Amino acid sequence: MINADTIIIGAGLAGWSAYQEMRSDKKVLVFDKAKSPGGRMATRRIFDGQADHGAQFFTARSSWMKAWVEEQVKSGRVEEWCRGFWQAAHAERFEEDMTLNADGYPRYRAVDGMAPLLKYLWQDCDMLYTGFELVNVQEESGCWHLSFETQNGELETVSAANVLFTMPLPQAKRLFEASGLQGLSQAASGRAFSPCLALIAAADEPALKAPAGLQFHEGPLQFIADNKLKGVSATHVVTVHGSESFSKAWFDVDDDEVKVKMHELASPWLDTVLRESVVKRWRYAKPINPAGEGSVLHTTKTGATAAFAGDAFFNGKVEGALLSGKEAAERLHTI
Ligand SMILES: Cc1cc2nc3c(=O)[nH]c(=O)nc-3n(C[C@H](O)[C@H](O)[C@H](O)COP(=O)(O)OP(=O)(O)OC[C@H]3O[C@@H](n4cnc5c(N)ncnc54)[C@H](O)[C@@H]3O)c2cc1C
Repeated sequence: MINADTIIIGAGLAGWSAYQEMRSDKKVLVFDKAKSPGGRMATRRIFDGQADHGAQFFTARSSWMKAWVEEQVKSGRVEEWCRGFWQAAHAERFEEDMTLNADGYPRYRAVDGMAPLLKYLWQDCDMLYTGFELVNVQEESGCWHLSFETQNGELETVSAANVLFTMPLPQAKRLFEASGLQGLSQAASGRAFSPCLALIAAADEPALKAPAGLQFHEGPLQFIADNKLKGVSATHVVTVHGSESFSKAWFDVDDDEVKVKMHELASPWLDTVLRESVVKRWRYAKPINPAGEGSVLHTTKTGATAAFAGDAFFNGKVEGALLSGKEAAERLHTI
């Protein structure tokens, strides 16, 4: 059995900012079920190019986030994408119904794609174990015992007094219920997430005019981007995100039907024809009701502490996830 001071579950943004905060003075181990870090900062290599198919862009509102973005820009990993996207005036396309919302507020992109940015950020963490899925949590005498299933089907148990969970809260809650931990399940309650169906499609020509991002505020679509014009792909790979209502209604429909429907919905908005495509299903894409607070701490009667961080806090998104991980780590630090 392996022991640590603190275990972080999830190598996305929240896990990363928490790890940065804790790494110098604690034995911290990080586990993620995926083969590589990043979580919803996701990029897929496909159609001789690649597509960001999770988070599309980020903004910086707090002074901490502005400083973080500036640092990433200096390192050459992040660039300003634009200062406003095309806005669809209606759910369906008529003439003159796309306007450019140049509000002067910077939207950022990762130069090589979102997942490569996260790989870069995690590269100097030698305590990161990928391909480890947390499958059971137990608590005994002030200590958490976490069981992981590895990608070759083995079970590993790791123990620590503190655990920080950064996966979407409904996922964590399900795991605690299956582990029979009512207190933890209760602590992870109250935050719902919306799903998102993503279509990643090949195109021969530019799909949109610069800045090649189109936002919807009603109807079945949410966002369309041409990853080549965005600057992250060698070819015109197009990302189409379904809206919350569309994604809920179509989530369990076969890929082939989803493709036909999403091609049909996206086509009127595009300057090109979409060729072949793949579908990605995000069951927990974005929090519907992110909390204003930064994290949740739960201490058991015997003194084991669990914290929750991620984009369910600090009003969500990339910035909320980063700030939340940092705050949870600061709170754990004081224990
Ligand atoms: C389709 C889509 C579009 C988006 N667009 C934007 C956008 O344009 N702008 C923006 O700011 N935000 C956007 N977001 C949200 C943004 O991606 C998230 O807010 C942010 O990436 C969340 O980071 P996180 O660290 O909280 O969670 P995650 O990135 O989800 O990290 C959690 C990690 O936990 C791991 N994990 C889960 N369960 C287990 C387990 N049992 N065992 C081990 N590991 C586990 C996962 O593999 C994952 O790596 C979008 C998200 C999606 C899905």
